Amino acid sequence: KLNLEKSMSEVARGYELTPGAVLGIRRPYNFVEGEYPNYFESGKGSRIIDLDGNEYIDYLCAYGPIIMGYCEEEIDEAVIKQIRDKGFCFSLTQSIQNRLAEKMVEIIPSAEQVIFLKTGSAAATLAVRLARGYTDKTKIMRCGYHGWHDWCVEVKGGIPEKLYEDVYSFKYNDLASLEELLFEHGNDTAAIIITPVGHPLGNKIEEPKPGFLEGVRELADKYNTILIFDEIRTGFRVALGGAQEYYGVTPDLSLFGKAMANGYAIAAVAGKKEVMKKAEHDVFVSSTFFPNSLSFAAALKTIELLQSKKVLEYIWEKGSKFLEDIKALTAKYPVGAEVSGIPPMPYITFQRDKAKTYKEKRTDFYTQLIRRRVFMQPYHHGYICYRHTDEDLNYTVKAIEESLVYIEEKDY
Ligand code: PMP
Repeated sequence: KLNLEKSMSEVARGYELTPGAVLGIRRPYNFVEGEYPNYFESGKGSRIIDLDGNEYIDYLCAYGPIIMGYCEEEIDEAVIKQIRDKGFCFSLTQSIQNRLAEKMVEIIPSAEQVIFLKTGSAAATLAVRLARGYTDKTKIMRCGYHGWHDWCVEVKGGIPEKLYEDVYSFKYNDLASLEELLFEHGNDTAAIIITPVGHPLGNKIEEPKPGFLEGVRELADKYNTILIFDEIRTGFRVALGGAQEYYGVTPDLSLFGKAMANGYAIAAVAGKKEVMKKAEHDVFVSSTFFPNSLSFAAALKTIELLQSKKVLEYIWEKGSKFLEDIKALTAKYPVGAEVSGIPPMPYITFQRDKAKTYKEKRTDFYTQLIRRRVFMQPYHHGYICYRHTDEDLNYTVKAIEESLVYIEEKDY
């Protein structure tokens, strides 16, 4: 068992200072309480170090922003240069915004114009507002996690029903579930918003079945509604132009964030000029920190590195081998562990069973992994980044094998 003394005393202090000590999915009970650290001290490349000095190979990548690695020098240098030479917070926007927008228009199939924000939730809310403004319709069909704002968050405390009563959920890879909703509400549907890869919390990742995304596109056209791809996780990771490029289906609007600046706070709505232009007059969006240019400098450098170092090819190659290796292990040790995902986003879940032993197995499995200093999230898929070395991945495959053997040998 790891020594987590400092982490535990810090989290006790945290509970006094912040509700739940830390927010949302980062709370201790969202890992294995008592086994995982609660705070990190630092990170470099593929490694992170907790308050007690334990070093881990990290597969959560800060929940997605880390595409190169932690503390990537060339990116940090680009940011430091911006601070030192020019400054980054002014009353007017700096022209670096246009350089980044041009780059996005060049690489993202659906992007004719871009609006930059700082968080994915803000981007999702803006896209929905643009769609409603453009179509003059009200209802939203959604599929996936789109952030914490009133219209879409799952936990409804503090939100009057009228703020989300026009939002309906459909099932990923189930075109009929969307068709049914549209049959009933299609004439008043402003947008269909979907994560192009299905990644429901705590459940297996789902790749689109052949024809699914194309079918969603067709339904959006049939009912004259705006198709929004939420590419906050898949953007700059599945392909440079996002999952829309990889799967060959082009939405009207799409959302980016996370990996686009290797950890600096940025998000974007990109899409058809005709729809985006609604934000010139009728649809309002603004924030003090939207023009803050540190993340623009970081994003430009990140994208430059993704291209010059063929980062995504590397990630697909390493990730494919890793997925294959761990799939072979779950076949070799049939204890209920299931591997899902795509090479840049692997995930190990446990098959549900009536006796609910899967919960104990999941806890045991992730406990064994963290004790071997492999940091993965039991309830969230992982990510592969550029700084994951063969050595890291091979060590991790071995740790996964040992953890599966532990489960095989235990009585449930
Ligand atoms: N959409 C998706 C698909 C996400 O994964 C997230 C964040 N996990 C969001 C939207 C919200 O982004 P943010 O947390 O930056 O507000």
